[in-house]
Amino acid sequence: MERRFYLNFTFEDWSQWVISHNYPSFIAKQIFEWILKGVNDPFKFTNIPKDLKEKLYIFFDWDLPKIDTRLESQDKSTKYLLKLNDGKLIEMVLMPSLDRVTLCISSQVGCRMNCSFCQTGKMGLLRNLSFGEILSQILIANNELQNRKVTNIVFMGMGEPLDNFDELVKALKVMTSLDGLNLSKHKVTVSTSGLVPEIEALGKEVAVSLAISFHTPFDDERSSMMPINRKYPLEMLKNALLKYPIQTRHGITLEYVMIKDKNDSLKHAKALVKFAHGLKVKVNLIPLNPHPGTAMEPALEENLKAFQNYLETRSISAPVRYSRGQDVSAACGQLAIKRKEELHADPRLLWRQRRSEERV
Ligand code: SF4
Repeated sequence: MERRFYLNFTFEDWSQWVISHNYPSFIAKQIFEWILKGVNDPFKFTNIPKDLKEKLYIFFDWDLPKIDTRLESQDKSTKYLLKLNDGKLIEMVLMPSLDRVTLCISSQVGCRMNCSFCQTGKMGLLRNLSFGEILSQILIANNELQNRKVTNIVFMGMGEPLDNFDELVKALKVMTSLDGLNLSKHKVTVSTSGLVPEIEALGKEVAVSLAISFHTPFDDERSSMMPINRKYPLEMLKNALLKYPIQTRHGITLEYVMIKDKNDSLKHAKALVKFAHGLKVKVNLIPLNPHPGTAMEPALEENLKAFQNYLETRSISAPVRYSRGQDVSAACGQLAIKRKEELHADPRLLWRQRRSEERV
């Protein structure tokens, strides 16, 4: 009998399961509460019958993904490489600050969007995460924190979240529902390269905060940086954003990685203001985090300031955001690729990795 991963059950699934095994329906709530508290051993569910504990143990797979690597940055963020139950690797980054704990999570193993500046894109798509695997990252992070809990979630790890729409929506519903993790919708941010139909569908299903990986206001440049723009060019993207229900004071976030001599000119700033006309947006200016295998460099400080100044004098909030954890390969995909290279460099490690992938 194949044991199902316990986090791939919604509250409704648990309700049906307990009833079909002749237990009263309120027990589903008790099981779900233990699970969301991060307890992954049914024998520790103190308020349920003993015979049910045994059944749960037999029918479900209670193993969370394992922490393969934990890298602590000088800026107090921690990057994790997690090994899924089939041996595949994903990344998450925990970023505590005084008033919040933000967790950056993955939605896929790899990604098929192939953005030119992104390491994960170079891996291609290996597979989607299930909604339970998406949620497992939060439970692992909560277990890692002492006396604190994750308060904010950003989908800026590996993968294009809207390319894994159904599992994403199930996970978002658990994150934001009263009987789930009860996180406010404005504290959960989905970042997308711009999948227009899915942006519209997300607005209808579970309108959490939205960030767009934007990077240039010109279609030809954006199409060469982000191939998805050939299918959904800027005009289509803007129409979808105009319809999206706004969750935060600042509206939708446009993420803009500032790259020297590529997208950091005043011509770009002017066109960006034109794109933003009629939209409620904030622009996050992010100096490029250089990584191996790219000749691109971060924009010069003076260009960054001039760009920011141009936007802000036109009433567009444009904070400069430095990527956290730069000393620990925090750009998405860097660590997973590095680990794969280590495995290839050491045949014993590679053999162990393959064995663990085959076992499941
Ligand atoms: S930037 Fe995001 S959408 Fe683009 S390849 Fe990387 S993970 Fe995928």
